[in-house]
Amino acid sequence: METILLLAHTEPGGALAKPALEALAAIRELDGELIVGLVGSETQPAANQIAGCGAARILAVTGEAFAQPRYATDAAAAEALCRAAGAPIVIAPSTSRWARALPGVAYRLGGRVDTHATSLAAQNGAPAVTRWFYRQRMEAVLTRTQRPWFMLLDSGCFPAWNVPAGEAVVEAVALEAPQTRTAVTGIQAPKADEQTIRPDAKLLFVAGAGWTKKQADGAPHPKEAEELILGFLRASQSSLGGSKSLVDLSGEGEAVLGFMTHLNQIGQTGSTPRHPKGLSTCCHGEEPHVVGWRFVHQRRAVNLDPNCGWARGKADVLYVADAFEVMRHVNRLLGT
Ligand SMILES: Cc1cc2nc3c(=O)[nH]c(=O)nc-3n(C[C@H](O)[C@H](O)[C@H](O)COP(=O)(O)OP(=O)(O)OC[C@H]3O[C@@H](n4cnc5c(N)ncnc54)[C@H](O)[C@@H]3O)c2cc1C
Repeated sequence: METILLLAHTEPGGALAKPALEALAAIRELDGELIVGLVGSETQPAANQIAGCGAARILAVTGEAFAQPRYATDAAAAEALCRAAGAPIVIAPSTSRWARALPGVAYRLGGRVDTHATSLAAQNGAPAVTRWFYRQRMEAVLTRTQRPWFMLLDSGCFPAWNVPAGEAVVEAVALEAPQTRTAVTGIQAPKADEQTIRPDAKLLFVAGAGWTKKQADGAPHPKEAEELILGFLRASQSSLGGSKSLVDLSGEGEAVLGFMTHLNQIGQTGSTPRHPKGLSTCCHGEEPHVVGWRFVHQRRAVNLDPNCGWARGKADVLYVADAFEVMRHVNRLLGT
C-alpha cells in the first residue's frame, strides 16, 4: 500500500474533532505508511492527542492566519503539506472546510479527488473507495491510478478512533500566509437549546406537512403541533427533520412551525443524515423524501393513511394513528 497523508484541521484550542478521528480509523483499515498533516492556529495539542496513531511523520502548518476556515489559507496550507509529505494518497474528513478547499488543491497538484466517500478498503494493494450516486440510489466502489488521489470521507461512517495520547514530535512546514480578501468577523449561531439539527442524535424525528393540515375537527392546530414537536425534541434530544412541503410552508412565512427551516429538509433536494433510528410523523413518505432516509437504520412512521408511502416497504413499522394523539401520549410518558 502506498503512503497515506491524513489532512486534519484543528478546532479552537488546538484539538482534533470527531470527523478527523473517524478518518484516522478509516485509514487504519489500509496498511500504508501514515503521515499526518495538521493545520490550525495551534497544532501541538492535536499531535499529542493522536501521538499513539503510529504515524511516520506529523507535519504542521501553524499560525493565526490558519485558524479560520477560508479557501485561500486552507488551500495554501493543504498544498504545502501535500508537497512536504509527497504522499500519493491524501485522505481528509469531509468537513465543510476541507470539502471547500481540497478539490482545488487536487487540481493544483495535478491529482484527482473523490468526495463523499462512505467506506474505504484495500483492494489489490490500493485503496478502493465507496460512494453513493444519484442522491444515494446507487452505490459504487472506485479505484484510481491518478496520483495524488484525494478522498474526502463523510462523517458518521466510521467509529472515531480512540488513539492513545502522548508527546508527539511535530515537523513545522514553513508557509507565509497568502494574501486574503476574506476576513472572519465572528460566528453567529443559534443558542444550544434552539439548535434542532443534531447529527449525533440517536433519533431523527421528522415532521411533515400533515401537522399544519385541517384535522378531524375541521381546523388546523399549528400551535399545538409546535408545542408537541418542541416538547418531544427537548425531552428526547433527537434531531429534527422536515419534509419539503413543510419547510416550504415555513419558509414562506406562514404561521406554522417557526423553528423549521430549509436546513431541516430531508430528501432528494435536502439532506441525508445518519441516525440509528427515525420516526416520521404526518409525512406521506414519498420517494423524493424517503431517499434522504438511506442511512437511517430503523424507520418508523405515524400516519392516518394506511396507504401512505411508508406502508409500501419504506418503514419497518407504520402506526396508522393520529400523530397529535400519539405525540401527546409519548410526551406524557417522557414527563413533559
Ligand atoms: C424533484 C423533486 C424533489 C423533491 N425533493 C424532496 C425532498 O428533498 N424532501 C421532501 O420531503 N420532499 C421532496 N419532494 C416532494 C415530495 O415528493 C413530497 O411532495 C413531499 O415530501 C410531501 O411532504 P409531506 O409528506 O410532508 O406532505 P403531504 O404529502 O401533504 O402529506 C401529509 C401527510 O400527513 C398525514 N397526516 C395528516 N394529519 C395527520 C395526523 N393527524 N396524524 C398522522 N398523519 C397525518 C396525511 O395522511 C399525509 O400522508 C420533491 C419533489 C420533487 C418533484
